[in-house]
Amino acid sequence: MDIKPNILDYSLVEIEHIVKDMGQPAFRAKQIFKWLHTGVTSFKDMNNISQHMRQELDGRFIIGGVEILQKLVSKNDGTAKYLFLLRDGNIIESVVMPYSYGNTQCLSTQVGCRMGCRFCASTREGLVRNLTPGEMLSQVFTANKDVLDKEDRDRGIKNIVLMGSGEPLDNYDNVIKFIHLIHDPMGMNISYRNITLSTCGLVPNIIKLAHEDMPITLSLSLHAPNDELRRKIMPIGSKYSVHDIIDASRYYFKETGRRVTFEYALMEGVNDGEKEAFELSKLLGDFDCHVNVIPVNPIEDGMYRKGSRESVERFISILRRSGINVTKRRELGSDINGACGQLKRSYLKSKPIT
Ligand code: SAH
Repeated sequence: MDIKPNILDYSLVEIEHIVKDMGQPAFRAKQIFKWLHTGVTSFKDMNNISQHMRQELDGRFIIGGVEILQKLVSKNDGTAKYLFLLRDGNIIESVVMPYSYGNTQCLSTQVGCRMGCRFCASTREGLVRNLTPGEMLSQVFTANKDVLDKEDRDRGIKNIVLMGSGEPLDNYDNVIKFIHLIHDPMGMNISYRNITLSTCGLVPNIIKLAHEDMPITLSLSLHAPNDELRRKIMPIGSKYSVHDIIDASRYYFKETGRRVTFEYALMEGVNDGEKEAFELSKLLGDFDCHVNVIPVNPIEDGMYRKGSRESVERFISILRRSGINVTKRRELGSDINGACGQLKRSYLKSKPIT
């Protein structure tokens, strides 16, 4: 494995230190930072930097961290799913969804995950490692270039959702650094309101996030209206109660002014009954939030199934009648292994990586 550091992991201030060490004037750091954030993959392309400096940088650093191993495009809706190869041979996945308000990319924040949610494919083998900020950036730059090159010249990636494999709040510092970098006006300049972080509910880090002065949208994977049921499907439910999560979400809303979204994956006979719908309505009734309902994506040897269309509609209408702001998430890319971690698993099964 190439052990050179990835220059995408660095902030502008850190690049300024590197440039200073090289005996170069400080303004070079800005030039390099700007080049990196246009998505260049070689120092050779930095044509306002001296040949000598480019060579020295090339000897010390790599740019990137991910490369496209496989890409599948849905025939139904244009959703593109990328399998990315990391430098150490690990594989992650990322999805680009062509929404009317701009392309939205779903990123991975870890290889694997240690949260153990029973319905999720990404956590089956546990956590392998955290992704670095540069590996998260590289997912965006690589997909952005691919989108601009091949499909839609005018519209690159406009929105980011941290909903791929991994628990973003379990890789807190790297995720925060990534968000600063992707938001940087000298780079992709993605607005905080176009960034969503999804969490299974690590309460202390939700509070910490509320203090970052980074008003991104918080999405809470709730999936159950009470502790007893939540613990059965999400082990993290034994550590933080539903009430702790709702309190932390209210606090996040109060501090940032950003409305919180609750994710609720409907699993037949588990959490999709009228009882749960009424319980959820009561729980969230006086909170100005948003509920996003999605029929569970059944995973291979998983035990959870989607309910009927009627049962989904019934669940939604109970919430609506209670005055809850609810939407049904579009099920994009079902023909290309839509659910979290599924593409990677099917790829690894068909082509063992040595
Ligand atoms: N760890 C974070 C983000 C990654 S999972 C979190 O828990 O939020 C992103 C979202 O996909 C979460 O809401 C998660 O609960 C949901 N998800 C995972 N597997 C799913 C499946 N099989 N069907 C439907 N949603 C799923």
